[in-house]
Amino acid sequence: MRWRLLFREQIKYCSTFKFSPERLKRSGCNLLKGRNLIDPMDFSLVELEEIFNYADEIIKDPKDFSHVCDGKILATLFYEPSTRTRLSFEAAMLRLGGQVLGFSEAQSSSASKGESVADTIRTVECYADIAAIRHPKEGAPKVAAMNSKIPVINAGDGGHQHPTQTLTDLLTIRNIKGGLSNFTIGICGDLKFGRTVHSLIKAMSRYENIKFVLIAPNELTIPKYIKLEVLEKNNIEFLEVEKLEDVIGNLDILYMTRVQQERFFNEEDYIRLKDSYILDKDKMLKAKKDMIILHPLPRVNEIAVEIDTDPRACYFRQAKYGMYVRMALIAKLLGVDK
Ligand code: ASP
Repeated sequence: MRWRLLFREQIKYCSTFKFSPERLKRSGCNLLKGRNLIDPMDFSLVELEEIFNYADEIIKDPKDFSHVCDGKILATLFYEPSTRTRLSFEAAMLRLGGQVLGFSEAQSSSASKGESVADTIRTVECYADIAAIRHPKEGAPKVAAMNSKIPVINAGDGGHQHPTQTLTDLLTIRNIKGGLSNFTIGICGDLKFGRTVHSLIKAMSRYENIKFVLIAPNELTIPKYIKLEVLEKNNIEFLEVEKLEDVIGNLDILYMTRVQQERFFNEEDYIRLKDSYILDKDKMLKAKKDMIILHPLPRVNEIAVEIDTDPRACYFRQAKYGMYVRMALIAKLLGVDK
């Protein structure tokens, strides 16, 4: 309780004097230390910049950071399948010199015996210094954070949000396209259940001159709350269309997504919709020469394998940026960044 009060005081102090990240660092005031990351809007643009700048330093010379988390432990609590998110979190901690523990499916944890997320995190905080949690129920990581003394990171909650995928996406765009403003971004596929889509739209809506082209079949369009509370509320220009080939030529960034099979109630609907989009060479002929293709992965059929050798295909580079940005995030939340 006491440290929470102190922390609040620290925030008040730091936000009163709008310090630049450099000045904050010199003043010993790390605003990210001890924080949770549950929603992409949890961090200000200045705080995001601080993470991206730190990730860039790590990318330049990763060995220089190989002892930053000596003696620290990350818990990965994954109640849903994952390849990149869990492994990149674990690789990130190991590359920072820390250690990892956790579980990769609900069945191997006491959740299968009926334990609540709140009780699990109260236990995990006895063993680890920071936790990343993925859960099929929307809001579960938030519940964990509310019951935790250690920082909690949302590694994906149901069809809701996936803020560390968004950090990955933003770092990739920033480094490959040279910034985060002045883009027309096409988002294609399952915009209804795709949590990476919801988080990306929220985060990008804070940058200058961003336009969205939302490409989805009628049944998988963007949820109303994103349209009303994010796009319309912030006067962001957006267009909803069904056909990718009609708009691909206008895009600076094309963010492809898979149809989220696990969120469907009915297998027939999934089968009908799963191949709604297949990005292939013919469609790419219409795209700008410098358009980049991103995908949070895993890919199913929505990008033909023939596209992988196109220089505009950036999804595997994106997966690597995911590890670096998680390294930066872990170090910042633990307050061990040097
Ligand atoms: N890996 C991403 C997620 O966990 C995207 C996906 O699964 O389609 O949301």
